[in-house]
Amino acid sequence: MYPDYIPTYKVSDLILRFPNFNPDGDIRIREGWLALVEEMLLELKYLFPEVRVLNIAARSWLCVVYDGENVLDLKRRKRLQDVVQGYVTRSLSTCEHCGSQNGVTLWEAEQLHPRFRREKWKWDRPICQECVPALNHAALRTMEAMGVTNVQH
Ligand SMILES: [Zn+2]
Repeated sequence: MYPDYIPTYKVSDLILRFPNFNPDGDIRIREGWLALVEEMLLELKYLFPEVRVLNIAARSWLCVVYDGENVLDLKRRKRLQDVVQGYVTRSLSTCEHCGSQNGVTLWEAEQLHPRFRREKWKWDRPICQECVPALNHAALRTMEAMGVTNVQH
Protein backbone atom coordinates (compact mmCIF):
# COMPACT_ATOMS: atom_id res chain seq x y z
CA MET A 1 0.00 0.00 0.00
CA TYR A 2 1.10 3.55 -0.62
CA PRO A 3 3.36 5.00 0.72
CA ASP A 4 5.95 2.59 -0.63
CA TYR A 5 8.34 2.19 2.30
CA ILE A 6 11.03 -0.51 2.24
CA PRO A 7 9.69 -3.89 3.40
CA THR A 8 10.30 -5.25 6.90
CA TYR A 9 12.74 -7.93 5.74
CA LYS A 10 15.08 -5.26 4.39
CA VAL A 11 14.96 -3.42 7.72
CA SER A 12 15.78 -6.72 9.48
CA ASP A 13 18.71 -7.19 7.13
CA LEU A 14 20.09 -3.74 8.05
CA ILE A 15 19.73 -4.54 11.76
CA LEU A 16 21.64 -7.80 11.30
CA ARG A 17 24.46 -6.16 9.38
CA PHE A 18 24.79 -3.01 11.47
CA PRO A 19 25.00 -3.46 15.24
CA ASN A 20 24.86 0.33 15.57
CA PHE A 21 21.36 0.35 14.07
CA ASN A 22 18.72 -0.18 16.76
CA PRO A 23 15.44 1.16 15.40
CA ASP A 24 12.77 2.01 17.96
CA GLY A 25 9.91 1.97 15.48
CA ASP A 26 8.91 1.61 11.84
CA ILE A 27 11.52 2.60 9.29
CA ARG A 28 10.00 4.87 6.69
CA ILE A 29 12.37 5.23 3.82
CA ARG A 30 12.00 4.12 0.23
CA GLU A 31 14.06 1.85 -1.96
CA GLY A 32 16.08 4.60 -3.64
CA TRP A 33 17.68 5.69 -0.37
CA LEU A 34 18.68 2.24 0.84
CA ALA A 35 22.25 2.44 -0.51
CA LEU A 36 22.68 5.93 0.96
CA VAL A 37 21.49 4.72 4.38
CA GLU A 38 23.77 1.66 4.25
CA GLU A 39 26.74 3.87 3.46
CA MET A 40 25.88 6.15 6.38
CA LEU A 41 25.49 3.25 8.84
CA LEU A 42 28.81 1.80 7.69
CA GLU A 43 30.63 5.12 8.09
CA LEU A 44 29.08 5.76 11.51
CA LYS A 45 29.92 2.23 12.65
CA TYR A 46 33.62 2.82 12.01
CA LEU A 47 33.93 6.48 12.95
CA PHE A 48 31.56 6.53 15.93
CA PRO A 49 31.06 3.05 17.42
CA GLU A 50 29.53 4.71 20.52
CA VAL A 51 26.64 6.08 18.52
CA ARG A 52 23.44 4.14 17.91
CA VAL A 53 21.05 5.10 15.15
CA LEU A 54 17.54 4.87 16.59
CA ASN A 55 15.50 5.87 13.60
CA ILE A 56 15.66 7.05 10.03
CA ALA A 57 12.81 8.51 8.02
CA ALA A 58 12.05 10.23 4.75
CA ARG A 59 10.56 13.66 5.33
CA SER A 60 11.51 15.33 2.10
CA TRP A 61 15.11 14.82 3.21
CA LEU A 62 16.64 12.03 5.28
CA CYS A 63 15.92 12.40 9.01
CA VAL A 64 18.27 10.60 11.39
CA VAL A 65 17.68 10.06 15.12
CA TYR A 66 20.66 8.82 17.12
CA ASP A 67 22.03 8.74 20.64
CA GLY A 68 25.37 8.19 22.32
CA GLU A 69 26.83 11.51 21.21
CA ASN A 70 26.98 12.70 24.83
CA VAL A 71 30.08 10.56 25.44
CA LEU A 72 31.92 12.25 22.57
CA ASP A 73 34.10 15.28 23.11
CA LEU A 74 33.02 18.50 21.42
CA LYS A 75 35.27 18.05 18.42
CA ARG A 76 34.00 14.54 17.67
CA ARG A 77 30.42 15.59 18.35
CA LYS A 78 30.76 18.32 15.74
CA ARG A 79 32.34 15.83 13.35
CA LEU A 80 29.40 13.46 13.89
CA GLN A 81 26.92 16.23 13.07
CA ASP A 82 28.87 17.06 9.91
CA VAL A 83 28.95 13.43 8.77
CA VAL A 84 25.21 12.97 9.29
CA GLN A 85 24.45 16.33 7.66
CA GLY A 86 26.42 15.20 4.61
CA TYR A 87 24.01 12.32 4.10
CA VAL A 88 20.99 14.52 4.77
CA THR A 89 22.19 16.91 2.07
CA ARG A 90 22.86 14.07 -0.37
CA SER A 91 19.36 12.66 0.21
CA LEU A 92 17.85 15.81 -1.29
CA SER A 93 19.50 15.04 -4.63
CA THR A 94 18.96 11.26 -4.51
CA CYS A 95 15.81 9.85 -6.13
CA GLU A 96 13.71 8.14 -3.46
CA HIS A 97 12.43 5.72 -6.06
CA CYS A 98 15.58 4.51 -7.89
CA GLY A 99 18.59 6.11 -6.17
CA SER A 100 19.69 8.10 -9.24
CA GLN A 101 21.33 11.47 -8.72
CA ASN A 102 20.53 12.74 -12.19
CA GLY A 103 17.79 15.31 -12.69
CA VAL A 104 16.36 14.99 -9.18
CA THR A 105 13.72 17.53 -8.24
CA LEU A 106 11.77 17.96 -5.04
CA TRP A 107 8.15 17.31 -6.00
CA GLU A 108 5.06 18.40 -4.19
CA ALA A 109 2.55 15.58 -3.95
CA GLU A 110 -0.06 17.33 -6.07
CA GLN A 111 2.43 18.00 -8.84
CA LEU A 112 2.72 14.26 -9.38
CA HIS A 113 -0.93 13.49 -8.96
CA PRO A 114 -3.90 15.51 -7.62
CA ARG A 115 -4.95 12.70 -5.31
CA PHE A 116 -1.61 11.97 -3.69
CA ARG A 117 -2.14 14.16 -0.65
CA ARG A 118 -5.34 12.34 0.08
CA GLU A 119 -3.30 9.13 0.20
CA LYS A 120 -1.31 10.56 3.12
CA TRP A 121 1.77 11.39 1.15
CA LYS A 122 2.61 14.23 3.49
CA TRP A 123 6.14 15.14 2.45
CA ASP A 124 7.58 16.48 -0.77
CA ARG A 125 9.76 13.90 -2.44
CA PRO A 126 13.04 14.05 -4.36
CA ILE A 127 12.30 12.12 -7.55
CA CYS A 128 14.31 11.93 -10.76
CA GLN A 129 12.76 12.86 -14.07
CA GLU A 130 12.83 9.26 -15.32
CA CYS A 131 10.88 7.92 -12.34
CA VAL A 132 8.03 10.41 -12.46
CA PRO A 133 5.90 8.47 -15.01
CA ALA A 134 6.52 5.08 -13.32
CA LEU A 135 5.73 6.46 -9.90
CA ASN A 136 2.62 8.13 -11.17
CA HIS A 137 1.44 4.90 -12.76
CA ALA A 138 2.20 2.81 -9.63
CA ALA A 139 0.29 5.27 -7.47
CA LEU A 140 -2.73 5.10 -9.75
CA ARG A 141 -2.74 1.29 -9.70
CA THR A 142 -2.53 1.22 -5.91
CA MET A 143 -5.32 3.72 -5.52
CA GLU A 144 -7.52 1.73 -7.90
CA ALA A 145 -6.76 -1.45 -5.94
CA MET A 146 -7.76 0.37 -2.75
CA GLY A 147 -11.11 1.16 -4.31
CA VAL A 148 -10.52 4.88 -4.79
CA THR A 149 -13.00 5.78 -7.49
CA ASN A 150 -12.92 8.49 -10.09
CA VAL A 151 -9.15 8.41 -10.37
CA GLN A 152 -8.13 10.91 -13.00
CA HIS A 153 -5.58 9.54 -15.44
ZN1 LIG B 1 14.52 7.74 -10.07
